[in-house]
Amino acid sequence: MSTSKLAAALLTAALGTMTMNAIAAPALSPDNPFARESTLPFKWPPLDKIKNEHYVPAMEAGMAEQRQEVAEIVNNKAAPTFENTIVALERSGQMLNRAATVFFALSSSNTNPDIEKAQTDMAPKLSAHSDGIYLDAALFARVKKLYDQRQSLKLDPESLRLLERYHTNFVRAGANLSDAQKQELRALNEKISSKTTEFRQLVLKGDNAAAVVVDTKAELDGLSDAQIATAAEAAKTRGKEGKYVLTLLNTTGQPPLAQLKNRAVRERLYKASAGRGWSGEFDTTKLIADIVKLRADRAKLLGYPTHAAYVLEDETALTAEAVNGMLNQLAPAAVANAKREAADMQQLIDEQAKANGTPSFQLQAWDWDFYAEQVRARKYAYDDAQVRPYFELNRVLVDGVLFAAQELYGLKFTERKDLPIYQEDVRVFEVTDRDGSQLGLFLFDPYARSNKRGGAWMNSFVEQSRLFGNKPVVTNTLNIPKPPAGQPTLLTWDEVTTTFHEFGHAIHGLFSSVQYPQFSGTNVPRDFVEYPSQYNEMWATEPRVLANYAKHHQTGASMPKALMDKVLAAQKFNQGYATTEYLAAAILDQRYHQLAPGKTPAASDIAAFEANALKSAQVDFAPVPPRYRSTYFLHIFSSPIGYSAGYYAYIWSEVLARDTEHWFKTHGGLKRENGDLLRSKVLSKGFSADALTIFRDFYGKSPEIGPLLEARGLTGGAE
Ligand SMILES: [Zn+2]
Repeated sequence: MSTSKLAAALLTAALGTMTMNAIAAPALSPDNPFARESTLPFKWPPLDKIKNEHYVPAMEAGMAEQRQEVAEIVNNKAAPTFENTIVALERSGQMLNRAATVFFALSSSNTNPDIEKAQTDMAPKLSAHSDGIYLDAALFARVKKLYDQRQSLKLDPESLRLLERYHTNFVRAGANLSDAQKQELRALNEKISSKTTEFRQLVLKGDNAAAVVVDTKAELDGLSDAQIATAAEAAKTRGKEGKYVLTLLNTTGQPPLAQLKNRAVRERLYKASAGRGWSGEFDTTKLIADIVKLRADRAKLLGYPTHAAYVLEDETALTAEAVNGMLNQLAPAAVANAKREAADMQQLIDEQAKANGTPSFQLQAWDWDFYAEQVRARKYAYDDAQVRPYFELNRVLVDGVLFAAQELYGLKFTERKDLPIYQEDVRVFEVTDRDGSQLGLFLFDPYARSNKRGGAWMNSFVEQSRLFGNKPVVTNTLNIPKPPAGQPTLLTWDEVTTTFHEFGHAIHGLFSSVQYPQFSGTNVPRDFVEYPSQYNEMWATEPRVLANYAKHHQTGASMPKALMDKVLAAQKFNQGYATTEYLAAAILDQRYHQLAPGKTPAASDIAAFEANALKSAQVDFAPVPPRYRSTYFLHIFSSPIGYSAGYYAYIWSEVLARDTEHWFKTHGGLKRENGDLLRSKVLSKGFSADALTIFRDFYGKSPEIGPLLEARGLTGGAE
């Protein structure tokens, strides 16, 4: 995923002012590292000097500074011009931006109790600050005046677009409401902001608390020595020396389910995962009910029938009908595919029971990965344990991900050790462009930690813009289990793909070449943002790239061609499962957010609502649960907008990604001229033009669904 959209939402959230009669700004101590622009290369934040106690004063002072800046725009006696209003707004809030960027980045990747508390305190203040700008009638009057005369202002295309975007942003934020309605909106926004922050923190704590304790090593049969050592280590840090702890990722499925031979332990692990957040200390159902209700109420106030209608209007999909149409087209084919896969596994279970003289059993969700692995081994004659030695993290990154970028775009990556980092495992690369100039910085933060949220994402410490002369500083954050000291980090195939995926977001940020920060890099609609990342996954399997990185971590021997061919052939394997678990989550998200006010479920009805949503959409196939159940669905409930009503975006963007993959394959593949064309037409554009226009300009026609169906093995249709 990409969180720069989230950051943008929060920072757009940060673009605002409470009231124009601003109280004088509390001066920020000059010792505070956010007091001035960083003097480090690439305006890199001085992470060695930033302490927990710096964030809140800097954000408070940053808000005050921005209120002052906005007051000056409003009070300007001169008639509104593009420069004195729109560009001035775009320039405002830089101190706030500096502080909030680092604060939100670290609150996801390296949090601590002080940051969490500050988050809880700041969320409603930032939300109110944003409302202050967007609901300021005098400011909107200036924007509207310019908007109404936009055709006669002789603006260049990007500037004209900026003016139109500001107008849209104001209207969508409620600028056309009455004063009483604006008051109501402010209250709703503050509540949504606090509740979503609470949700995020409760889920993170719940994930840690739900980790599964196993008493004996024997019960972990099937895991590698390194994984068992990691589990012993995790037990030790939790004060359970001598035992083993299986920590949970934020997804319903958990990697050890593919390996654990003990069915009872698998069941415990699965149930701990899927059962998170439904009761007890870390129960999130009340927050879900509140968030869904508040969002529906806000949509109504803004003149939309549902939250989904409000969100989708500003996406490339435009309407809930378009999204439902796409999901409904895919769901039956995906579930039919998953049922075929389940039948293969059931057959295997029955055969093994017969051979062992033990009673057979019906395939359950906690059995899926374990038997899928065996079916995969049978059909493709390899398992994860065979391929992992060829996927050592550093090789995958340097000789795979970065190598592909070098071949495609002529980039060079040089590791830098001189810049302060926030955690010792973080690596920093300076990126040199094809002409030898400095392009930006790329940070890589690979390992799972208890103070990092689940999943994998990209975000920006500095966004490219010519307005500020900024070069991009982007990060990729993953959750790869860290092996004990001295042992290599060997990846699963999924983790390899994720590494390529996240780098696709990074390159979108790095190649950004726009005037205004608002349009920078990954600040595009959610259903477009996953396009460059999913496209970039194709290079993981490109034979020349694969041959370059897939080398044995001890011997350096290339992965045997026969094994490599099997890895490639297995691409469509288990796609019924992968597509169904994803669609189930995407449908769940739409169901919550397509509800009209007054129709949203109470906390006690969340479980039934989830079950009914899946059933009525015909994706309620028990062995394939949703990728995220409601209670830990961070994408949609952990920030004011986030991916709410937008989780479908991955598959929507995947259409574009698969079309692009198809284009590369029919135009000579991994070649500089192909990479350069994609860069100039798509990857450098940010949101400086309409997303579909950008795509058509590259692809030569509208998106087509065929390559996606082909790639996911969905061409067989429903049974
Ligand atoms: Zn992504």
